Amino acid sequence: MTKKYTYLFREGNEHMRELLGGKGANLAEMSNLGMPVPYGFTITTEACTQYYEDNETINDEIKAQIFEYLDMLEKQSGKKLGDTKNPLLVSVRSGARASMPGMMDTILNLGMNDTVVETVAKLTDNPRFAYDSYRRFVQMYSDVVMGLNKSRFEKIIDDVKAKRGIESDLDLTADDMKELVVRFKDFYKDQLNADFPQDPKDQLMGAIEAVFRSWNNERAIYYRRMNNIPSSWGTAVNVQMMVFGNMGNDCGTGVAFTRNPSTGEKKLYGEFLMNAQGEDVVAGIRTPQTIDHLKEVAPQAYDKFLEICDTLEKHYRNMQDMEFTIEKGQLFMLQTRNGKRTAQAALKIATDMVDEGAITTDEALMMVEPQQLDSLLHPMFDPEALKSATPITTGLPASPGAGSGEIVFSAEEAKQANDEGRKVILVRLETSPEDIEGMSASEAILTVRGGMTSHAAVVARGMGACCVAGCSDIDMHEDEGYFVVNGQRFNRGDIISVDGSTGKVYGQAIKSVPAAITGNFERFMKWADERRTLQVRTNADTPRDAKQAYEFGAQGIGLTRTEHMFFEGDRIKAMREMIVSKTTEQRRAALAKIEPMQRQDFEGLYEAMQGQPVTIRYLDPPLHEFLPKTDEEVAELAKEMKMPKEELDAVIANLHEFNPMLGHRGVRLAITFPEIAEMQTLAVITAAINVQNRHPDWHIEPEIMIPLVGSVHELKFVKNIVSKTADKLIKDSNVDMKYHVGTMIEIPRAALLADEIAQEAEFFSFGTNDLTQMTFGFSRDDAGSFLSDYYDDNIFDSDPFAHLDTKGVGKLIKMAAEGGRKTRPDIKLGICGEHGGDPASIDFCQQVGLNYVSCSPYRVPIARLAAAQAAI
Ligand code: PEP
Ligand code: MG
Repeated sequence: MTKKYTYLFREGNEHMRELLGGKGANLAEMSNLGMPVPYGFTITTEACTQYYEDNETINDEIKAQIFEYLDMLEKQSGKKLGDTKNPLLVSVRSGARASMPGMMDTILNLGMNDTVVETVAKLTDNPRFAYDSYRRFVQMYSDVVMGLNKSRFEKIIDDVKAKRGIESDLDLTADDMKELVVRFKDFYKDQLNADFPQDPKDQLMGAIEAVFRSWNNERAIYYRRMNNIPSSWGTAVNVQMMVFGNMGNDCGTGVAFTRNPSTGEKKLYGEFLMNAQGEDVVAGIRTPQTIDHLKEVAPQAYDKFLEICDTLEKHYRNMQDMEFTIEKGQLFMLQTRNGKRTAQAALKIATDMVDEGAITTDEALMMVEPQQLDSLLHPMFDPEALKSATPITTGLPASPGAGSGEIVFSAEEAKQANDEGRKVILVRLETSPEDIEGMSASEAILTVRGGMTSHAAVVARGMGACCVAGCSDIDMHEDEGYFVVNGQRFNRGDIISVDGSTGKVYGQAIKSVPAAITGNFERFMKWADERRTLQVRTNADTPRDAKQAYEFGAQGIGLTRTEHMFFEGDRIKAMREMIVSKTTEQRRAALAKIEPMQRQDFEGLYEAMQGQPVTIRYLDPPLHEFLPKTDEEVAELAKEMKMPKEELDAVIANLHEFNPMLGHRGVRLAITFPEIAEMQTLAVITAAINVQNRHPDWHIEPEIMIPLVGSVHELKFVKNIVSKTADKLIKDSNVDMKYHVGTMIEIPRAALLADEIAQEAEFFSFGTNDLTQMTFGFSRDDAGSFLSDYYDDNIFDSDPFAHLDTKGVGKLIKMAAEGGRKTRPDIKLGICGEHGGDPASIDFCQQVGLNYVSCSPYRVPIARLAAAQAAI
């Protein structure tokens, strides 16, 4: 049987997102709900994947179905593509399974050619409109299908305007539009050595193919990687009869949300432009009017729209983001989808809708993207500091947050500065989707043009970046590297601050304060905690981090990297002394310096966690991270250790490893130098006893974790040292204290032989950073330099160090969990690699039945929500 690659809108429904994409499925659903949706059909995502399988060609079977459906569309609409009496014009728009706003391509007014434009002019009695539509089509087609940059066309428009002495596009006459069409087509011919295609069917196939191709454009690939969307999904294509918002003053187009996407307030929120076409609103080129004005301009359409908004929100049980067009006073719906929103808005909408009785708490929990909470966990401007600061200007509060940094004017500059560790604010006349990487590299984005629904705003909200848009007071001189606002000049590199919650911009750095979980946020997180079965712990190396994590709801520490306490100041010296010691005596002397520091830190950790479990991982320093690097550092250390510098140079040369990540680290260190494990046990157990004595009502059971184990014999050897030391300390202290020794599973061999290892290990914690490194065989430190080619070529969809490779690494985890449980049914299982804070990976942890995930403090709330979603 032949596969069905095309669906009329009336044949689909909202549950067919995988096949029809989000836009297609929702257009189908709205059609079936009896809403005014222009006729159309959807070409499936499977057609897109088939296109790539067929080496980027649309095969005959798919082509035949497209033409068959075009035929049906022509019958439905009573119009015909290319007809000289009643021509059909269509839009060709992308629509993937997950919404990717602005990332892929759209073509409007397809079907226009030299004869159709005349017919349209006659039929509408509006030659200006007809030629405007044609010139837009030439421009979009040339850009999207043929790759001619749209700015070259804008230049031609500027030329014509200059010649005519006018400033606004609206002042261009029918003759001007006609001239533009001629000049655009000449430019096309000049650049491509071919005439602009006149056959609408050729145009259609070109456009469909371009949309398929746009699935793999640079920004779409980047967006997918950021949002963990597989490249295998492909995009659907929607071919839809055009309705026109640019036919006159009783026409218009707009976008609206059923609730405020920035604050969550329950009030219709949106923008529109009269006598304009869809792209004009979202592209941010003309500043639109707010939706409530529509009441005065087009009252009937407005009433109808209100009614539809209400129906759609109830139907989808979620806040909707809609596009509409009004043609000669009549309303048409072009799109609806669950609206992107800020984290603040997401929480307000979720809790409000529960209170309204519109959704269940489970639905509310599923409505908020865990990753989004991140933006609520970061500092906001200090209200006190704000009082004394005067804003230089105010724009639209497009995406909340607070950012201070140096002014940059391009995405490239932002990326470069970010790589160099500088904080920047990206200031742009308007942003385009190509800026996405630069936006994510900035503390905040500030734009001169564009409204709340401009690309800059939508994308910033999506990624939780602070953004102020439409700051029209700014007189921009991007090319010269400065802007002027209210008489004050700001140059590239000057520091400004941007408050995305109020829209205010300040000409100075402003102090910020930490966030707190209160109000809706707190209430929502309670629901999450009630629902989840996975525990959430934190990876914390210092008492300060541990306190922060505790405030964010951590239920213990899953990993303390004890070597991380020694990265700084005097402490690194003690650590270096220990590493370069030539004799046991030297080493014991260095360890004696380290021990009190460790004990003090451990006490701080136990105090911060208030009796909750604390897992302390024994030293695992890849040597290259700790050895002195410069000559001065070596000289200083030699002096400290009272040895000639040459001798120390020789020791260091001796310690050089070709592959430090696979070198003398983890358990291997403790095997060579058992005194290290002795010292650490002394520090852990003494700290635990001290804190237990201070807080008799807490119940402290130290968890000691041995890293990088690959064989049960390694673990047994070190466990022996630990037990001897710990048992004696506990006995001498007269405190009744239990402790547990476990291991990390981070070497594939440990996963393979987990049943054996569980004979000695009381708990496993999956160290998926190393496990990923060693399963793939590529270095954590070096993979970044070549993985980007893997994404570009669609070999990998995302970074396996960020999102767990559930197929390969996951198989090892599953196997190890089963092996461990076979030997020790009550073995405690957790994960402490970076993946422990990644929502998709957490879902996998739930499936495998781990007891807890452990992640960095700022990801704890994210993990709490992700764990609840995994349990629903
Ligand atoms: C791991 O390997 O996943 C881990 C948590 O340990 P580290 O990152 O310190 O190697
Ligand atoms: Mg590790």
